[in-house]
Amino acid sequence: MFNWFRNRRRKRILQEPWASAWDLILENNIGHCKGLSTTERDKLKKIIRIIVHEKHWEAHGGLELSDEIKVTIAGTAALMLLGVEDFYFEHVNTIIVYPHPIRRQTQGGLVVGKESRHAGEAWQNGQVVLSWQDVLSDSRNPFDGRNLVIHEFAHCLDGLDGEMGGSLAFGDAATTRRWHRVCETEFAALTRAAERRQKTLLDYYGATNQAEFFAVASETFFEKPRQLDEEHAELFELLVKYYRIDPTKWT
Ligand SMILES: [Zn+2]
Repeated sequence: MFNWFRNRRRKRILQEPWASAWDLILENNIGHCKGLSTTERDKLKKIIRIIVHEKHWEAHGGLELSDEIKVTIAGTAALMLLGVEDFYFEHVNTIIVYPHPIRRQTQGGLVVGKESRHAGEAWQNGQVVLSWQDVLSDSRNPFDGRNLVIHEFAHCLDGLDGEMGGSLAFGDAATTRRWHRVCETEFAALTRAAERRQKTLLDYYGATNQAEFFAVASETFFEKPRQLDEEHAELFELLVKYYRIDPTKWT
């Protein structure tokens, strides 16, 4: 019954005309859009409309919520869903945006928060917190390997099994086992490289734990897919299987 109401509501959302001003937002703010095919762009717009309408959006810290904020965030998250059907981060209910990186202070002055970067957070309860300043600069630079929205929404995908621990479920058990093996090997290699301060394609932040490894690997997958394929072929291949898309076509 719930699905019936939801599908009916989504049909209504998609019948509303696409605001032409949103095209300009995609053009200006989402660098990846330039590489998408017409079919992918149409699907992206469908996903954006559903995410914009279905999530509860909040702006804090003096920031005024706007279509630009919503479409830029939804549009970047939508890139991650181009390979799947009828999934719109249903388990994410609230997106909270601040103008700048978040600073949480305890009474003792220690900075606390889920991410040591503080530009964003993703919580198992369905909340995603983002710094607009970082969202915008990352979305406008699609090939620098960093993307806050992709990072936080990768944590959300990781949390689909009830825990954000870097453990992904693939369609079959053999691929899931292969992911665990490849993830452990790559995570160990990144940890060693980070300890030695060796320059790597994957950001050192991925060596924090396996959840951060998946989030950082996802950023690299969408922003530097060719290099990831060349330097970490098995990891790249598994991410193609997981996201069901190949971003090398967009570059
Ligand atoms: Zn993270």
